[in-house]
Amino acid sequence: MTRPDGRQNDQLRPISFIPNVAPYATGSVLVSFGDTRVICSATIEDDVPRWMRAQRVEGGWLTAEYSMLPYSTLERKPRDISRGKLDGRSSEIQRLIGRALRACVDLKKIGQRTIWIDCDVLQADGGTRTASISGGCVAMAIALNKLMAEGRLKQFPVKKLVAAVSAGVYQGVPVLDLNYPEDKDASVDFNVVMTESNEFVEVQGSGEEAVFSSEEMTAMLELSRKGISEIISLQKAAILTADRAAPADLASLTAAFGKR
Ligand code: UDP
Repeated sequence: MTRPDGRQNDQLRPISFIPNVAPYATGSVLVSFGDTRVICSATIEDDVPRWMRAQRVEGGWLTAEYSMLPYSTLERKPRDISRGKLDGRSSEIQRLIGRALRACVDLKKIGQRTIWIDCDVLQADGGTRTASISGGCVAMAIALNKLMAEGRLKQFPVKKLVAAVSAGVYQGVPVLDLNYPEDKDASVDFNVVMTESNEFVEVQGSGEEAVFSSEEMTAMLELSRKGISEIISLQKAAILTADRAAPADLASLTAAFGKR
């Protein structure tokens, strides 16, 4: 079996995190998993949702929104606002992003604040939800580092980084990080979210008009574990350099994409 882009079965697409693409957000990053590109931002507001205040819940909150830009797909996708309702798929994905990121942050330590994670897909080629979680975590860490540097937080609230990747069975073989041509034909599709300590946060797996064996499931989880540890290393590098990086300009974006 040869993968459409010639990758090894356990090989990720080229992955990059370009910090500070949206300077008015508290933290931001442009994440690429191959041709899938998502702008992820974290904006921190000094307020909590009304239900938290009413129930006197300690600490803050984190919530996420996900959207595909109309030109992110081959065929133009109308904005939800012009259709008058949120797409069911987007709603499912943004709840997943929120759960994944709430698992890695100690909300008590952020004080009475809300972290808004916005994930806007610039180009969709499979795995937009896993790129959104991985990029959302970087944007969040950059934003919280900024609050620490400004003396607005006493302790760094991120417990562990989280990342996500897909795996699936393509032409009978378990493979890592499916692009759209693979995703379209895969008989099984898994999305795996894990922390940097190899703990699962969420596993979504389903057969598409197909079934899968426990051996295949073990193989997909093992591929995901390997992929996630590689993604976590890239996330750490992006977070460490973000405070020194200037706002990303067109030249740096061109240079980053030109390298591939
Ligand atoms: N896709 C699309 N239009 C849509 C939804 C999905 O073109 O309205 C494509 C897109 O490339 C996406 C892929 O199908 O990345 C797989 O979609 P899925 O719902 O499995 O989510 P994802 O893999 O992006 O997390």
